[in-house]
Amino acid sequence: MDKIIKTISNSGSFRAFVLDSTETVKTAQEKHQTLASSTVALGRTLIANQILAANEKGKTKVTVKVLGSSSLGAIISVADTKGTVKGYVQNRGVDIKKTATGEVLVGPFVGNGEFLVITDYGMRNPYHSMTPLITGEIGEDLAYYLTESQQTPSAVGLNVLLDEHDKVKTAGGFLVQVLPDAKEAEIARFEKRIQEMPAISTLLSSEDHIEALLAAIYGDEPYKRLSEEELSFSCDCSKERFQNALNTLPKSELEAMKEEDKGAEIICQFCQTDYQFTEQDLEDLIRDKS
Ligand SMILES: [Zn+2]
Repeated sequence: MDKIIKTISNSGSFRAFVLDSTETVKTAQEKHQTLASSTVALGRTLIANQILAANEKGKTKVTVKVLGSSSLGAIISVADTKGTVKGYVQNRGVDIKKTATGEVLVGPFVGNGEFLVITDYGMRNPYHSMTPLITGEIGEDLAYYLTESQQTPSAVGLNVLLDEHDKVKTAGGFLVQVLPDAKEAEIARFEKRIQEMPAISTLLSSEDHIEALLAAIYGDEPYKRLSEEELSFSCDCSKERFQNALNTLPKSELEAMKEEDKGAEIICQFCQTDYQFTEQDLEDLIRDKS
């Protein structure tokens, strides 16, 4: 089971989240049948969303839209504060690697565009906040977003490692933030440690990457574990929800579906679940409308 561990330094100057998102991204890859670049791009977006949702409380929902201009198209994901995330990438067949090293390329195939975050507190108007994509590698884009929108010095790392068959091997990430009481000397020490941290891919390759991340983030600085929560990929769609959507269509359109298509098929974009509506289902909806 995937997890996020929330921690704070004993000094109260920094806090850090570390995440194991391996099963989340594996599930996303299975449901969407994504190829290499699409898997890594979608996976990184899901992890970014898990990090942003972990900052929220209650019934808040956080949507992340990576609206790039290149081959991958839009990447959309939605997460809640219970550790659940769902998402999809518009073009799931993007599979581009460097010939020499086999490195999976993401940034150039996200392209230029926007990193949009919609925070829905369950009030009337969800809160929209947007920054430009800096590299399209998602991690840097999230770091830029956090620094710009929250005005909190933040360091972020996230990645998805694939095996030789392009299946998800490990996925995870971290967020470190300086808290308002931090002293200059502490911030300098912290920045130095973050700069000297091994690459996120190296840390994710460790046998226990959660512990490797914590060790790299805190060094010999004492810290407390505040909580450990489960994370997963899970979609909240249902036949009833799509039935309600069908019900908003005009009667003439429902009649056309019944007569011409002999039913309707709706595939959930977020999880690829296929919902079938028979002629009888449509007939029931039409009858209820008159
Ligand atoms: Zn679904």
